[in-house]
This record gives sequence, C-alpha cells and structure tokens, in this order.
Amino acid sequence: MFKKILIANRGEIALRVQRACRELGIQTVVVYSEADREAKYVKLADEAVCIGPAPSAQSYLHMPAIISAAEVTDAEAIHPGYGFLSENADFAERVEKSGFAFIGPRPDSIRMMGDKVSAKQAMIRSGVPCVPGSEGALPEDPREITRIARSIGYPVIIKAAGGGGGRGMRVVHTEAALINAVTMTRSEAAAAFGNPAVYMEKFLLQPRHIEIQVLADTHGGAVWLGERDCSMQRRHQKVLEEAPAPGIPRRLIERIGARCADACKKIGYRGAGTFEFLYENGEFYFIEMNTRVQVEHPVTEFITGVDIVVEQIRIAAGEKLSVRQRGVQFNGHAIECRINAEDPYKFTPSPGRITVWHVPGGPGVRVDSHAYANYFVPPNYDSMIGKIIVHGATREQAIARMRIALSEMVVDGILTNIPLHRELMVDARFIEGGTSIHYLEEYLAARHPA
Ligand code: ADP
Repeated sequence: MFKKILIANRGEIALRVQRACRELGIQTVVVYSEADREAKYVKLADEAVCIGPAPSAQSYLHMPAIISAAEVTDAEAIHPGYGFLSENADFAERVEKSGFAFIGPRPDSIRMMGDKVSAKQAMIRSGVPCVPGSEGALPEDPREITRIARSIGYPVIIKAAGGGGGRGMRVVHTEAALINAVTMTRSEAAAAFGNPAVYMEKFLLQPRHIEIQVLADTHGGAVWLGERDCSMQRRHQKVLEEAPAPGIPRRLIERIGARCADACKKIGYRGAGTFEFLYENGEFYFIEMNTRVQVEHPVTEFITGVDIVVEQIRIAAGEKLSVRQRGVQFNGHAIECRINAEDPYKFTPSPGRITVWHVPGGPGVRVDSHAYANYFVPPNYDSMIGKIIVHGATREQAIARMRIALSEMVVDGILTNIPLHRELMVDARFIEGGTSIHYLEEYLAARHPA
C-alpha cells in the first residue's frame, strides 16, 4: 500500500479523499490555490503545497505544478478527484511517466471514453446497448447525412464527439433544419473542444438518467454496485440523486449491470467508473462513461456499504477488489442533495463568507462538506459546497430523513439552494418517483412563470 498520496483537487472531494487515506493509514499531501489557503482540509493534511493563484488554469489545471508538488513531497500516487484533471488522459500519462501511480484508469481508457464516438463503438463491441444513431462520426456529404437521419427517424440529436458538461449538442426536428444544425454543431465543437467530429443519435423524448457504478481491479475482477437515478437535472447538471432507481424492474437492472461489469473486463478497465444511460420504455441506452469517482458516489456507498474511494486507492496499489459480485448486497434507499452556494430562485452564484453553518445529524445522515462557520466560499470555482446524503430502509424513510436533515441545516452569510431541496422533498411527482430528465426544468418553469 502507498505511504503517501497527493490529492490534486479541492473542496469536499479533497476532504473525502483525505478521509479515505487516513482510514488506510496513508499520509496526505494537499495542493491548493491561493484562494483555498485558509481551507480547513488544507490544514488537516499532513503536508500542503500552494500550486498557484486562484484561476484553475494556473493552479488545479496546471500539470507541471502538481507533478512537481508530488516530487518535492515524495508522494507515491496522485488522486485526481472529479472535474479538473480527472478525465485528462494526458495528465494521467504524465503522472505515470513521472513515476507516480495515477488513481484512476489507464490513460488509453480515459482517452477512449473521452471521445464519445470511440466510447460508443467500444460499448457496441462489448455488448452494451446504445442509443440508435450514426455508426461513427458523421460524413461530410449532406445527402449521406440526410439518409442517416431518415433511417434513425426524427427528432435526432447532433452531438460533438469531444463534448462534455452538457455542451455541444443540438436537437433537430425536421429535415429542413438538419444540415444547418450539423454545420453549426461542427464549428462550435471545433472551437470549444478542438475536435470538429460530430455524430447523430435518436433524440429520446422522456428518458430517465440512470447510471451504473463499476469497480475493476488489475487482476481481472470487476463488479457493478447498482444504479443511481440522476434524472433531477437543471441545464444538464444533476441537482439530486438517489439509489436504487424507483420503479425499474430489478431483472432489468441486473442485466444491464452485468453487461457493464463484463464490458470493464473486455476493455481492460481499471478503477472506479460510471456507465451513464438514458432509460425509456424498459430499455437502457448508453450515452457516456465517466472514468472517475462521481459527486453522487455516496448514495451507492450507503446502499452497498462499499467505500468507493478506498477501493480506488486499493486498486491503484495493485490490490484485488475487496468485494465480489456475489457479496454485493443492496440495502434500503439513499438520496443525495447537492448544496450549492447560489440563489435558490435565480441560480446565480452566491460566493462569500459563511457566518452560520449548522449541519444536520441523526440516524442515516451523512454530510460531506469542507465548509464551516467563517469559511469564505471563493468565487473562482464550482458553486457546490457540500452534499447531504441520507439512508433509510425504504424510499419513504429516506425522503422523511432528508426532510428532517434539510430542516435542521442552517447556512447564513451566503445564499444556498436548500430552499429548492425542501420544496422538492414535498413535491408530489418527486415523491411518486420515476420522473424524466425534463421534470425539474418543467417544475422550475411552473414555479417562476416568465
Ligand atoms: P455531456 O457529456 O455533455 O454530459 P451526455 O452525452 O452525457 O453529454 O448528455 C447530456 C444530457 O443530454 C443527457 O443527460 C440528456 O439529458 C441529454 N441527451 C443526450 N443524448 C440524448 C438523446 N439521444 N436523447 C435525449 N436526450 C439526450
């Protein structure tokens, strides 16, 4: 096992990884930008290295600074967290070439999954069902593009092969609009992602977002840890997540889960990963794979008892998975609410100093956050400042516990989206379960007539 790990991230995930290291008796090095100098988790680390000024490009995305921080502190491995450099294949490669272990997949797996066309092709080869669409990147010939769209059937969605974060997508409802949409998406993709390749998929009308968590070791072991329902989204950003997904027959989940674990073995995947699917009318359609730990991993930890971050570290150290598929038991129901420093009605960011910070507790309640009273939320990064995760024997109990947790939580000095979560926990459609990816937007539109 490693003696020392460098955490190349910030905020709640930096603290989460630090806790996992502690549990394993591993020393931690935290890197931080000037904006995060005062953060408590920085002080909690065994060592801390300032890697640059507040802007991410000069700190958390600055590869040479991070690698030299690992060199001067004699760290053996680097955990990238999520966001920032976590899905950057070049970074993973540089980490390994510099003699450190990268706590994540092999660089070529990251590269393959980072290009959505090659990811889809790999999934088709591995027997994972995908959204019907073009076989690869779209050709230049407009007649050929029109033929492909006709064979898929309208509406279709044009997506950038290099896209991410909900950007680089355009829905097309009629043939008249097709070629113009392809041309525009191509030039946007070239500008935003440095890759003009686009592909086409059938646009599903009322899908749910269901994802499968996997873990794979370097000894040929791979397990799936159930699903998460992340359909509650605003602008393609997840707002709250739960596990299991309400109302989906277990045999369907088991079938798709087994396919995902199998695909990991076929592509030689290493580490934690998530297969994201759209689910509609009893069918799963793969859309992309995330090659890192995800924000919503705690709901899976609650229902399986598996510590995903500890497993990531053990896998990177060359150990075997501590669980086998037969040993994975699913217990109860878990829900996560992401707490963002933002206006709960207008969704504008609300950075600044937190004056009061009171977190909930009680049975089945977990709060993952790096914030505290007198903590200054810097304006430079993502607005998420923490997560409340609850576990109950049933979905009803989990919702009740989340309501109580949200009622106990007090944050002053900045605005947060806690009022929105309180509303959602008493919303009849959410309580019923199984809403589509459009539900939250519809809810918000009705809440604020333009
Ligand atoms: P990104 O990497 O940018 O997040 P994804 O491929 O994961 O892109 O898609 C993001 C979101 O866009 C999905 O969660 C879904 O809401 C919508 N979407 C993507 N593909 C389709 C599709 N074929 N039909 C309907 N909605 C889609």
